[in-house]
Amino acid sequence: MIRTRFAPSPTGFLHVGGARTALFNWLFARKHGGEFVLRIEDTDQVRSTAESAAGILADLQWLGLDWDRGPVPGKEKNEYFQSMRLEIYNQYLDQLVKSDIAYEAYETPAQLAAMRAKAEKEKRPFRYRRNMPSRATSGQGPSVLRFEMPHEAVEFNDLILGHIAVGGEEHDDIVIRKSDGFPTYHFAVVVDDHLMGISHVLRAQEHLMNTPKHLGLYRALGWQAPVHAHMPLVFNMDNTKMSKRDKSKAARHAAQMMLKQDPTCTMESLATRAGLTPEALAAFLHQKQDDPAITQALAAALKLQLPEIDVQDFRRSGYLSDALLNFIALIGWAPGENREILSREELKALFSLEGIGKTNGRFDRKKLLWMNGEYIRHSDDATLLRAMASFGAVTDYPIKAAPEPMLRNLLGMYRERMGTLAEMAENSRFFFGPPDYDLKAVKKFVGSETDRNYLREITRILSAIPSPWNSEKLNPPLETIITLTEKRGAASQILRVAVSGGAVSPPLLDTLILLGRDVTLQRLGNLERLVQAG
Ligand code: GLU
Repeated sequence: MIRTRFAPSPTGFLHVGGARTALFNWLFARKHGGEFVLRIEDTDQVRSTAESAAGILADLQWLGLDWDRGPVPGKEKNEYFQSMRLEIYNQYLDQLVKSDIAYEAYETPAQLAAMRAKAEKEKRPFRYRRNMPSRATSGQGPSVLRFEMPHEAVEFNDLILGHIAVGGEEHDDIVIRKSDGFPTYHFAVVVDDHLMGISHVLRAQEHLMNTPKHLGLYRALGWQAPVHAHMPLVFNMDNTKMSKRDKSKAARHAAQMMLKQDPTCTMESLATRAGLTPEALAAFLHQKQDDPAITQALAAALKLQLPEIDVQDFRRSGYLSDALLNFIALIGWAPGENREILSREELKALFSLEGIGKTNGRFDRKKLLWMNGEYIRHSDDATLLRAMASFGAVTDYPIKAAPEPMLRNLLGMYRERMGTLAEMAENSRFFFGPPDYDLKAVKKFVGSETDRNYLREITRILSAIPSPWNSEKLNPPLETIITLTEKRGAASQILRVAVSGGAVSPPLLDTLILLGRDVTLQRLGNLERLVQAG
């Protein structure tokens, strides 16, 4: 039976790279009628949090990646959390100690750093080995347990990268139990993959050099190892690795540009605007600190949209889970025949490890935006209403409060013209409250005395139309308004600015029907007062 697993460490949000690892494992299991296991690797007591674990489960659910065995959302930790399995690990740790394949090591971190520095100075790689003369055989602090890695070469066949061999002289004796008594990742992963019957370990290439260590452990424990496949990493278009640091990079860059280009902007004024101390801002700008809170504060002060990195960022930006899933499937994997838009069923049918490349995948944001627009345009109302509900659950736009008939109406107006749900949420704000007038548009379209006369004329024409407004009643006056000016349509722009605040909106007829007579006339009056006030 094919059984794969996704084994995130709950130390942060689910990154798109992690989501892709989960997706490929899920696809491989589903395609072969196997099982997909979710395991939370929370052996790092300091960095693991329950919120992170809950967030990862929620993101996987949002993506529709269901698991056959694993944590139960909203429930207590079960045996799919490594922190609940200490007894099991201890049993196997004892076994290795008894057979003298694992041994206590006493170096403090400072001693290890000195050993490493010495090796570096002598231009030789540092490998910790049981037989090395400089090893401490006793010590005062808490000891760790190390695994005596065999001295022979380890070879394996990676299903993506092919034959991999690591010579015996390359190995070192890894720590398998930390001084806090918890097993390390290396040990827990081997024990769990074995006991959980994992047949295929598909993970990112950054783990490639861990695999020989794991194979050493399998051998020592007398177990057959699963098949391994290491997937290419996810890179930005500029060939840097896509990482959460990209957000602070973007905020830092925007702040530096602002300080350089705007003579009125100083370190002090920018810090005040962002609610930071000048010292904290300076430290951030000099890359001494990568604080997410500073990043967010700067982004808000500079009205900067940070690059999406984590799954929840994409959800908040209004990407559909199907579109994101389709897109990440194509990072490093190709179904052939240049196919791009693929449903979940098609992905399952076409997925194969042979289609995964060896080189880094690229995350092309423009393509994702295009793909999301395609998904939106081809989704029916029910699908988009569901997507809106899930988007509304994590965002705070006024559209959240819209009743269903109004939402359907808005979808009708925006479906063809939005790349993300956030675009509709942002652009439709004026349906839920008085618009913020775009002063450039006001000046451009209602700047002259003649324009103001047209504005009054429009108000006169529309006040003659009784409520409730519908297309039958509104078509004739709108036609009159279009032809009011010498340049056809100029008066319509005045009307558009009055009701929406700016020069772009969905078709006026639909817009006015949805706003209704009272609101429309009120806004025409507001604009008139605004332009009169100058
Ligand atoms: N917990 C590890 C990580 O998040 C899992 C690596 C693996 O798949 O073995 O990187």
